[in-house]
Order: sequence, then C-alpha cells, then structure tokens
Amino acid sequence: MGLRKQRTKYIFVTGGVLSGLGKGITASSIGNILKSRGFSVNIQKLDPYLNVDAGTLNPAEHGECFVTKDGAETDLDLGHYERFLDIELTQASSIMSGRVLRKLIDDERAGKFLGKTVQVVPHFTEAIQEYIKVAADGFDIHIVEIGGTVGDYESPAFFEAIREYASKVGRENCLYVHVVYLPFLGTSQEIKTKPAQNATRELRSIGIMPDLLVARCESKVNGHVRKKLSDFCGVSEKGIALLPNAKTVYEVPLTLEKQGIGSYISNTLDLKSRKPNLKKWDEVSRRATAKFDKKATIGVVAKYMDNQDTYMSVFEALKSAAWWQGVNLEIKWIDAEKIESSRGSIGAKFKNVDGIVVPGGFGSRGVEGKIKAAQWALKHKVPYLGLCLGLQVGVVAAARNAGVKDANSAEIQSDSPDPVISTMADQKGKEGTGGSMRLGNYPCLLLKNSKVAKLYKKKNILERHRHRYECNNDYRKQYNSWGIEAVGTSPDGSLVEIIEAKNHPYFVASQFHPEFTSRPNRPHPLFRGLIDSCIQ
Ligand code: GLN
Repeated sequence: MGLRKQRTKYIFVTGGVLSGLGKGITASSIGNILKSRGFSVNIQKLDPYLNVDAGTLNPAEHGECFVTKDGAETDLDLGHYERFLDIELTQASSIMSGRVLRKLIDDERAGKFLGKTVQVVPHFTEAIQEYIKVAADGFDIHIVEIGGTVGDYESPAFFEAIREYASKVGRENCLYVHVVYLPFLGTSQEIKTKPAQNATRELRSIGIMPDLLVARCESKVNGHVRKKLSDFCGVSEKGIALLPNAKTVYEVPLTLEKQGIGSYISNTLDLKSRKPNLKKWDEVSRRATAKFDKKATIGVVAKYMDNQDTYMSVFEALKSAAWWQGVNLEIKWIDAEKIESSRGSIGAKFKNVDGIVVPGGFGSRGVEGKIKAAQWALKHKVPYLGLCLGLQVGVVAAARNAGVKDANSAEIQSDSPDPVISTMADQKGKEGTGGSMRLGNYPCLLLKNSKVAKLYKKKNILERHRHRYECNNDYRKQYNSWGIEAVGTSPDGSLVEIIEAKNHPYFVASQFHPEFTSRPNRPHPLFRGLIDSCIQ
C-alpha cells in the first residue's frame, strides 16, 4: 500500500459490551480536543452493516439519515463529527460493507483480480484500508470509528483491517481506543468492571491491544475503578477516561481534557505538545446547560414519535439557536397522525406552543396532519419552520387556505388535480427507486429584502438537499394570491428553494435541510429566525 513514511497519526475507536454507548460522541470529542490543539483532523465511520449506505435505513430504528455536502447519505454519527469538529465531511467519511463489497464484485467482474480467488483477507481488508488511507491523506490526525461492537458477526474483517493497518504504517502511529460500559448493580450498590474486562479481552484476542479505554457509566465513579480497569485490562491509568452521563454531550470534550486525555494521546502518538484552546467549547457547554429567564416551546409535528435520534440534527439546531438567544427550549411532540384523524379544531394540540417545526419525511403517513399544522400556523400567525417536506406541506397548506381545496403533493396523491408539488423533470419515472434524489449541496439565490436574506446577511447560499419532489412551477404565478412568495430559488430561477408567507411574523420553509449545517457555536440563521420570532 506504500503507507510507510507518512506523517498522519491514526486513532481507531471501537466499542464493547453494548451499543449506544456514545462511541460517536467519544470519537468526535477526541477529534475536538485535538483540533483545539491546532492539529488538522479528519474523521471517518466504518459501518460493518451490509447496506451500501444509510439512505434506505429506517430512521425510527437507526436514527436520522445525515447528508454530506457531496450528497452521501450517512449514519447520524457524521452529524456529531461535523458539529464537534466544525468541519464539512464527504463521501470518504462514511463507508459501509455494502459499498466495499460492491467495489470488490465490480472489480472481480471486470477481471481486475487476474484469475485469483477473491478473499476477505487480503482483498476485503485491503479495500477497507484503501478507504482509510484516502480519507487520511494530508491530515495530521485521522480518526476511524468502527460501528457496532467487537464480536459482531459483520465486523471481523473491519477489526482485522485496522489491526493490520498498524503494521503497515507503524504501531507508533496508531492509537486504539476502546469504549466500554460499567454497569451499576443496584442490589450490591457497586460498579462492575467485568463486562469491560471481557470486552477488552475480546479485542486483545483478535490482536488489538487498546491504548485508551473510555468507560461509560451512569454516574460518577471513584478512583479505585480506574486502578482496577488498568490492572485487569492492561491499559495504563493515564489512558483510562471515566465518562459518567453528561448534562450535555458538549461537555464530553471538556471532561476528557480534564482527565488529561488530550496530553495522553499527544504523548502516546508523539505529537508536538500543544495547549488546547477550548474557550469556544466552554461557552457552548455553559450555554447548553444554563437556565435562562426566557422560554420557548416548539411543537415538532412528526410521525416518528419520541425518538430524538430520528431528528437528531433538527433538535441540535433548535437547541443551539435557543441557547445563543438566551432561551430555554421546550420541545413538544405533536403526533401528525393524531392531527390527521382529529375532527374539529386542532387548536388544543397547539396550546402553549410558541412555534411549529415540520421536519423532513417520506411517504404519506401523517402528511395530512402536517398539512393541517401548516394551515393552522398560517391562519393563526404562529411562527413556522418547514424543512424539506415541511416546505412542501407549507405550499399545499397555503394553496388550500386560499381555496385550492384539492391541492396536494404528487408524492401523496399521484392523480391530484392540483399537484402543487410534483416530480422534478429529470426524476420522472424514478420515483420509487433509491439513488434518484437531489442530494447534497446546491446553490440558492435569495430575494433582496426578504426575511431570509436579512437572516443570512447575504444573497448567495449553498445548502444540502435530500428529496425527490419540488414546487411545481405551473403554480408559481398563484403564490401571490396564496399569500406566499418564493424568496429563494436556484440561480437560474427554475427551482423554488425557500418560501415565506407574507403578512406573517415568521412562516419560512426550505426545500433543503438547514439543520445539517447548523453548529453548536453557530446556529443556522433559519433556526435563529424561528426562535427569535417565538420570543417576540
Ligand atoms: N418526501 C419528500 C421528497 O422526496 C421530502 C423529502 C424530505 O423531507 N427529505 O421530496
């Protein structure tokens, strides 16, 4: 592979005991404290799932599908990476087994293996290593998180790939981090380390000796646990980070730093010792946990109820917009299907709600409820932010309120007499298939003097998309009479990207997903606008 004599240092993050421990937050936080030392850091998730990408995964089970600027449909961990490292990632940062397999099979069919048998080792593992190498190129530090836990049926090849990597680039250039769990046993009132020991032994049995152990636990644990973990897992005490549940995930980099993990990593990888600058991050964590006098309640009209992971970036964007405005945020889940089926007034559902968000979504379940919510927001002048599907139902709502009773989106009703939302010309016929969407960054031109132009403080923007349907241009002339305006369009004017309602404090909806580019220290203008108008 020609990997010798390169300057990049590699950090591999694996997990044991159980999933959902916050491996992604750990990887992001490690990246954060190294970036705050001035190093250039890239980060990548290797997911052993057999899927090609996360585009077809059910968000209720797997959480939000995050989209990169170049249009990769990825696992939600990439969202954490982008927020914690304040970078924009690409396709190279999200690799699933299916993608690696597909490449191998294509190569095999093309005869590239010259008659050889194609094997997990070395062919599959080398393909994985190639993806790591490409993503790492040019960075001081490259972090690689392996999805799932050690011992999963899908993962041996991934673990073998990262084990071998050290012999290719030099063990001294690699640091292995294992994230484990310390359960608390109520009956005997003690923290148990055995599952962590077993998970570490499992990693050792496949040839990886961890350098850093991150132990998650429900509450603070005392120092003897560190010593015990060190003795029985074979990791020096300095290389053990204890992570009790945090008030906010944005605290985690600071907790790691307090335990000396930044210097430990720097020393182990022989990186130049540098002081971290975590000022910005201190402020984020302070605001994220602060109690403010003002409060805003946002009703999120959704069909995947009570699972914040499904709308991860939307929640993070709302939260950060609120804390930078000095507002405590209250989220109220509003079940779109219940609105849909409710006869009579839906006012009770929006009692005490200061603003409404309709997030993205696919399929017809709950859509009528979302349309009703948008109609309500228009009529009662409740601040509204529509995200992708939220724009589409916003346009339908405006049309219906203005008397176009049968207005609908072609996705919901293919034979609608008034398809105010329809398929993009170049997508016709591909509606049902994966990979036929408008994905990733597209430029948008904002109308001078619009609310959004004032919020963005510029005219040209670039935002991330993930959708098949669009505003139907045949109806654009009617927008004025419906009380809405296309205030953002593609530069040639052919696609509607943002609408605003006239004579409304804040009815703004975008065809793109502003939540993906919002940052904990730099909330997205459209979310700021929403929170602002909620407290007016
Ligand atoms: N289902 C809609 C479309 O495909 C909206 C997609 C979304 O909200 N991301 O256009």
